[in-house]
Amino acid sequence: MDSKEFRKQAHVLADRMADYFEEISDYPVKSQVKPGEILSALPLSAPVNGESFETIMSDFERIIMPGITHWQSPSFFAFFPANSSYPSVLAEMLTAALGQQGMIWETSPAATELEQRVMEWLRELCGLPASWTGVIQDTASASTLTALLSAREKTTGFRTNLEGFTGMGKLRVYCSSETHSSIEKAVKIAGFGKNNLVKVAVDENFALISAQLEMAIKEDLKKGYTPCAAVASIGTTGSTAVDPVDEIGKICERYKIWLHVDAAFGGTAFLLPEMRHFAAGLEYADSYVFNPHKWMFTNFDASAYFVRDPELLIRTFEILPEYLKTRTRGLVNDYRDWGVALGRRFRALKLWFVIRSFGAEGLREKIRLHNSLAGWLKDRVSEHPDFELMAPVDFSLVCFRYKPKVLSAGEDLDRINASLLSELNGSGKLYLSHTRLNGRFVLRMVTAQTTITRDHVLRAWDLIQQTALKLSLKIE
Ligand code: PLP
Repeated sequence: MDSKEFRKQAHVLADRMADYFEEISDYPVKSQVKPGEILSALPLSAPVNGESFETIMSDFERIIMPGITHWQSPSFFAFFPANSSYPSVLAEMLTAALGQQGMIWETSPAATELEQRVMEWLRELCGLPASWTGVIQDTASASTLTALLSAREKTTGFRTNLEGFTGMGKLRVYCSSETHSSIEKAVKIAGFGKNNLVKVAVDENFALISAQLEMAIKEDLKKGYTPCAAVASIGTTGSTAVDPVDEIGKICERYKIWLHVDAAFGGTAFLLPEMRHFAAGLEYADSYVFNPHKWMFTNFDASAYFVRDPELLIRTFEILPEYLKTRTRGLVNDYRDWGVALGRRFRALKLWFVIRSFGAEGLREKIRLHNSLAGWLKDRVSEHPDFELMAPVDFSLVCFRYKPKVLSAGEDLDRINASLLSELNGSGKLYLSHTRLNGRFVLRMVTAQTTITRDHVLRAWDLIQQTALKLSLKIE
């Protein structure tokens, strides 16, 4: 492909993308293909000779599009969103063209310095402690791994970095039973050992019980373990529960334990001053993560990781081969030492585009709308005699289940709700996901899509009621 052809095809693609966003509601939200269907449509071997862009695009439409689940659809209510926006897509296009690799300042001064400034903006926009330093990671999972590795090194006086896992069997990490699976994964990877992750019980709102955390720490100390890190959540994946960060922070301070706060989804809410009571105690945190790639209209991936002490972070990851030595070392941020990967994408550009294009008030307006839509749905569920609210609604997630008054013999609510979910998602009209809360099968509906309106939630709620009714008539 030469530059003339590139220009031509880029224009075609720009139109295709704009059409896609305008027509996104015409697609089934959840891809309806069967396992293996896409794979079997793809040739077994790569082409020997280059193919025309028209041929590639025609296969894209024919083979790839049916296998796309439309995460950007306003009727995508599943999991947490990975929402995007026009300015973010445009920035990603530029990022691809520039092809930056920002491992050190010298390899991309703009990527490095824009990242520094954009992270300062985010810190200020969300009212986070002014002394914190931010860096972009790819995901919250990587941020949490980074946090636990730093905690490990701080606790062992950087001995693990030098000597390996000597004495590691004694280090303990604490989180709640509702914490995201990425914490368990990080504990495994960082060498703590899964058995050294202590899952503390939660209360009726699915928030960690801080008294039980302290009891677990005391027990561990008696048994000769070394408490190393605690992970608190602001917005758990199951139900957006908020752990009492203030109480957990005081405990961590008392026992000299690293406090990492996972606000992967919920953190975006701190753009709203009225939501910041959920951030009480954040000043105790040693590290904190939230994902603009979930709820801040920024294409996946962009995870905002903040630390109290950047020196500790850098010391954990620092490595200096000859070929990376530069004269600017020490004068600038060389982000290769701020996380696991050496190579780094220019992720700051999309954040810069998004923040500038929406403006702080534009972002806030959307987040407020999303929270109010969840509030509206919560009221509908609560007042409906055949539906039950399953968790408090503080952010833009509603957890509920269908609970018909009359149940036929042999039917249970978990089975009915699993069938309801399958029917709904099979309709192609919306996409919901599920979780288990208190052992019960629960439907999760997140109202946080970039282009969602009240109409989308209204239509979804109508469909949920109609489908539930049809289902119970069939069961009877
Ligand atoms: N933490 C929480 C609370 C989450 O909900 C998720 C994903 O949904 C993660 C961490 C992991 O996020 P990522 O995909 O960025 O690793």
